[in-house]
Amino acid sequence: MAAPFEILRDLFAVQGRSDYGGEAVTQWEHGCQAACLAEAAGAGAALVVAALAHDVGHLLHGLPNDAPDRDIDDVHERLGADWLAAFFPEAVVAPVRLHVPAKRYLCAVEADYLAGLSPPSLKSLGLQGGPMSAAEVTAFEAIPFSSDAVRLRRWDDQAKVSGLPTPPFEHFKPHFDTLHNGGAP
Ligand code: FE
Repeated sequence: MAAPFEILRDLFAVQGRSDYGGEAVTQWEHGCQAACLAEAAGAGAALVVAALAHDVGHLLHGLPNDAPDRDIDDVHERLGADWLAAFFPEAVVAPVRLHVPAKRYLCAVEADYLAGLSPPSLKSLGLQGGPMSAAEVTAFEAIPFSSDAVRLRRWDDQAKVSGLPTPPFEHFKPHFDTLHNGGAP
């Protein structure tokens, strides 16, 4: 079986040129920009890989890019996390699974967060359940890796810059090696 690095690289090579749901970047540019932001913030290997692959569910589900405009919640965060769980530890999988709840969380706890969301992200928020209730906020904060999911969410929101130069996929290989050679996640 091919290694996770090769599997993800090939998936992005085949599917990554598709639009990132109504934004001005492709799926590859979006994941790559998110991972570069994670690197710049000094995140560990697990969180860099999570940022790179956080929307892999979009590459797997076969739904149209404008699914939210058709009032379809593609549940890409669960699809992606379940798929990644075959290859990666929970430190990668959980932030991916939680990156949509993290948006609902930030909408509840930060007054100006919701106002800064892009129109497609605002549209999908409604389908995803809207801002969390106070009880949901408390429960979310108790989930392992939820703080990593919030960090990932902020990079996700910023990773929509049209025309930004992106490194090749191979740039991220050291992080995969760290994860699979027993290095610190
Ligand atoms: Fe995203």
